[in-house]
Amino acid sequence: QSQEFSQVRIDYHGALLALQEHGTRMVCTGKMHTDRICRFDYLCYCTEAEEFVFFHSNTSVMLPNLGPRRFQPALLDLSSVEDHNTQYFNFLELPAAALKFMPKPVFVPDVTLILNRFNPDNLMHIFHDDLLPIYYTMQQYSDLDDEARLVFMEGWGEGAHFDLYRLLSSKQPLLKEQLKTFGKLMCFTKSYVGLSKMTTWYQYGFVQPQGPKANILISGNEIRQFASFLMERLNITREEGDDYIVVFKRTTNRLILNEAELLLALAQEFQMRTVTVSLEEQSFDSIIQIISGATMLVSMHGAQMITSMFLPRGAAVVELFPYAVNPEQYTPYKTLASLPGMDLQYVAWRNTMEKNTVTYPDRPWDQGGIVHLDKEEQERILASKEVPRHLCCRNPEWLFRIYQDTSVDIASFLDLLREALKKPNIKKAKVASTVHPGRVREPKCQTSVQATNEAKLSVSWQIPWNLKYLKVKEVKYEVWIQEQGENTYMPYILPHQNYTFSENIKPFTTYLVWVRCIFNKNLLGPFADVLICKT
Ligand code: UDP
Repeated sequence: QSQEFSQVRIDYHGALLALQEHGTRMVCTGKMHTDRICRFDYLCYCTEAEEFVFFHSNTSVMLPNLGPRRFQPALLDLSSVEDHNTQYFNFLELPAAALKFMPKPVFVPDVTLILNRFNPDNLMHIFHDDLLPIYYTMQQYSDLDDEARLVFMEGWGEGAHFDLYRLLSSKQPLLKEQLKTFGKLMCFTKSYVGLSKMTTWYQYGFVQPQGPKANILISGNEIRQFASFLMERLNITREEGDDYIVVFKRTTNRLILNEAELLLALAQEFQMRTVTVSLEEQSFDSIIQIISGATMLVSMHGAQMITSMFLPRGAAVVELFPYAVNPEQYTPYKTLASLPGMDLQYVAWRNTMEKNTVTYPDRPWDQGGIVHLDKEEQERILASKEVPRHLCCRNPEWLFRIYQDTSVDIASFLDLLREALKKPNIKKAKVASTVHPGRVREPKCQTSVQATNEAKLSVSWQIPWNLKYLKVKEVKYEVWIQEQGENTYMPYILPHQNYTFSENIKPFTTYLVWVRCIFNKNLLGPFADVLICKT
């Protein structure tokens, strides 16, 4: 491995001189540690101290130069999980002159992206916290290309799906543990530190109960493009034609106890082939191959459901929840399926029959056991019909309930699907347009007074500039009229480019009028500059 950086590709002496002379340079984006990504020249890492080192010289740059605020609480988040106190990044400082007394640095010639994976043993976390953020952070910086080197500093081993991380660049990713093998002092010639959080849609409940992020910035388009990228790297092509249902099962816990019965019911109801997959029985690649052509994915709540991002547009996602678990409170997969442009139909089924659940009070606490709790608490949990809202990650009642096995009540399950699913076979689902209208142009108003208590207000405008290049099924306009000084306004939806208002229009009054265009009912354009109209 240490061969890899055999210092032939760079001029070692030149690099050392540059480091000694210029020290480290850092320029970052972001106002806060939670939205910051930093770019470094000659960021070093001391493998003995397990600390990054910033070497000061006369020409080093540190922007932002936060002084001691760099520790309040950190320079940046190393993982995509917001403000998690185990995921902070910082560096030590030294004068470049100290290099003379330090071990000879080993230079990493590749452009490097340095980050923490959050939980590389869990497929949801792998995709949501790591793969998508890494992929789109790399898209943000053009020198983070296919030759870029990923360095994972969280300190874990490879984890269950390390091959997926390997797909992101042609170079083998490095783990913190491996850095030692390169020497005592490593210097990254060019590196980026931190991850974009732009792609994440879920917060896991560290400060408030889990749920969708407050301000989701990703759409199905970006998820699907990422999914296509992975499929291409895995040499998987979506096979279309045959309709079939995939039941994604778990084999060690949170089981579906009457799996055979469920498969048969699905096959009969939808007149389709049904197949089961599990992470234990199939390779990840073959699972993606199967899911990418499926009409419906049925699964117990769990990380394996992140694979729903590979479903074709129009497919249905059916998520099963064990007894006493409220589907509304645990929505990472619902949120994913419902992102605009994912074009998936999502349905949650919940076991409401206590007789159909199998509990495991005797298991270790992290698999949902509760025998370590005092008797009273155990009894309360056993009697409870729904897990109350809670924070991550060790709530025993939550773990107890989410690790139950379930016998799915077929009648209620099929009823729900009949009710909730429009024909799940919309494989030919059209990609909805996402082009928004521009501002309406040349908005104008004209007024006239008819009588002491009667006036008219005519508003007209021209179509948005981009409309003449588009085929839009339905073009409407929205007009807001507010009497100056009032808090409320009257909204109107209009089909044409002018309208004369007479109801509620008073003489000798000033009105503020806003106009915008709407494509296909929900694609809103911006308002044109406000019109001031005096009757
Ligand atoms: N897992 C699995 N089969 C099982 C149990 C777990 O494939 O029977 C996988 C699961 O998909 C996830 C990882 O193991 O990737 C950890 O599962 P855990 O129950 O801890 O997390 P959850 O699925 O609830 O997010």
